[in-house]
Amino acid sequence: MTFPVYWLNGRIVPPAQACIPLTDHGLLYGDGVFEGIRFYHGHALRLVQHIERLYRSARALCLVPPCTEGELTAAIEETIAAFDGPDGYLRVVVTRGAGKLGLDPKSCARPNLFIIADALAMVSAEVRARGARVIIAATRRLPPDGLDPRVKSLNYLNHILARIEAANAGADEAILLNAQGRVTEGTADNVFIVRAGALYTPPASDGALQGITRALVIDLAVELGIACTETSLTAYDLYTADECFLTGTGAELIPVREVDGRALTSSPGAVFARVQQAFKALVRRECARG
Ligand code: PMP
Repeated sequence: MTFPVYWLNGRIVPPAQACIPLTDHGLLYGDGVFEGIRFYHGHALRLVQHIERLYRSARALCLVPPCTEGELTAAIEETIAAFDGPDGYLRVVVTRGAGKLGLDPKSCARPNLFIIADALAMVSAEVRARGARVIIAATRRLPPDGLDPRVKSLNYLNHILARIEAANAGADEAILLNAQGRVTEGTADNVFIVRAGALYTPPASDGALQGITRALVIDLAVELGIACTETSLTAYDLYTADECFLTGTGAELIPVREVDGRALTSSPGAVFARVQQAFKALVRRECARG
């Protein structure tokens, strides 16, 4: 049993003090950015990439985090060290800060920065073993000309609506299409399919977040000699895939066994098993060094 650790604006604080004001525009308007980061063996996986993405997301919103990238790295290390366990999940959030009512961010003098370390299991061990049942949500992904999907912002409402659709349908996860009907991503994960031994994943330009786990899986495929192509996919491609799996920091790698009631031919399958094994080896290589 582990307890969450909270770091807020410069220091670790007890749970009762882990609070931000009601007038924070992150709360009032979803005005802020965040990262989810996993640590294994006490070391954050792909920390540089996560911090860079956070600062890029913030820059796109004219939001200046209240510390340097180096200071944030130190804060993350301090939070991991205070957590009672070698493995866990970090949520790093920068909000616009407290301000007046009304959208104008100029009234917010100082962004709030906080980190939560906790355990996170996106699905049960049983779902991981047998494969997830997913639906294609009626809720579409926000169009890139509305909000660029590379910005990892605090606006997740349409993903939450898709997740509610999944729960109402008795499924484990939902996949969102874009306005043109192309596959984008899951509610908090990217999508891969396998056809005739080769991997396919939608290009980020179809509307997905540029996932750090997705990039890592593409690299692993090269190492393993598995062809991997970024190409637009439709519901049909998911229904007729041999295998399908989801990737994300929270999700790690989750096999999919069924899409909209269609059982996939051989999922969880051999390609997933190879990628999964290579992912575990990479985690050991990159994180178990101390
Ligand atoms: N898409 C969305 C919408 C997400 O929230 C996440 C989780 N951050 C992902 C994809 C997976 O990205 P990553 O591998 O960088 O965690």
